[in-house]
Amino acid sequence: RAKQKGRNAWECFTNDINDEVRARMALRNDLQEAIEAENFELHYQPLIDARNDSVVGFEALVRWKHPVKGYLSPGLFIPLAEDTGQIGPISEWVLRQACRDMCLLAAQGFGHYRVSVNLSPLQFRRPNFLVNLQQALLETGLSPEWLELELTEGILMADTAAAVDTLHRLRDMGVEVSIDDFGTGFSSLSYLKQLPIGKIKIDRSFVRDIATSRHDGAIVQGIISMAHHLGLAVVAEGIEETEQRDFLAAHGCDVFQGFLFARPMPLDKLQAYLRKPKAVAQVSSLPIDR
Ligand code: C2E
Ligand code: MG
Ligand code: MG
Ligand code: MG
Repeated sequence: RAKQKGRNAWECFTNDINDEVRARMALRNDLQEAIEAENFELHYQPLIDARNDSVVGFEALVRWKHPVKGYLSPGLFIPLAEDTGQIGPISEWVLRQACRDMCLLAAQGFGHYRVSVNLSPLQFRRPNFLVNLQQALLETGLSPEWLELELTEGILMADTAAAVDTLHRLRDMGVEVSIDDFGTGFSSLSYLKQLPIGKIKIDRSFVRDIATSRHDGAIVQGIISMAHHLGLAVVAEGIEETEQRDFLAAHGCDVFQGFLFARPMPLDKLQAYLRKPKAVAQVSSLPIDR
């Protein structure tokens, strides 16, 4: 009996694994179709200047427009795409779409905004990464100063010498680089001083309890102060409450990002958002052509 029970348990186990493998294969096939049909959409989340509440740029966040399941968030397919290599074509699409959308906004008279694009480790390590990037900028007509790449600490730690070299080339090109999810990796601030980067983005997990946890408050305060001493700007992500914003403002955080200000939104919603008086206030102070 024990033997039989054991076998049943084993069967259950292998069935579970089979289900999981099947689900992943189905997802992978669906994703392949999505790549071919370009069934993705970029949503843009505004980045807010802490000094005057003006919009300084947007983070581009990819969504999969699934025919049955609706919008799927990147957490549900980016990790798989990184395993299967499908991240390559997805990233190419994201980069070009973000560049095109920024050019469109400028052409429509909304003004120039810098767009932040998340970079996967695989992309950054590809030998032709910089050539592809140049080509995307040329093809879309976006000037490099309006592009920012968000890298995670892991990308930079993996192969430091090559990574530092790539970062210098990006700086020479005029593309801004920021460290995303700062504080969640293994890095120390001391390694930052060797890297030609412009800013760090404090991870949401530290911002969450900033106003209530003495520890998180102290960590964030320390990060901001050290970053500033190294000449880096600081962005805080995941700001949902006024208390969090007030704490960050009081400690000199440069840029705010979070649901308190705006959620990620598709381009048409973003255009409507930019038409609202607050966002265009900075533009209306420019001299008027007669
Ligand atoms: P991330 O780069 O750290 O992006 C910020 C995430 O926090 C976004 O989730 C955004 O919607 C969310 N967020 C922003 N403000 C708030 C807030 O106030 N509260 C809460 N609870 N969440 C907030 P999203 O869009 O689901 O993206 C998740 C992650 O997927 C991103 O984290 C990024 O690592 C990755 N990702 C997104 N788009 C791309 C892409 O085009 N390429 C690659 N390689 N990764 C991407
Ligand atoms: Mg990011
Ligand atoms: Mg982030
Ligand atoms: Mg994050």
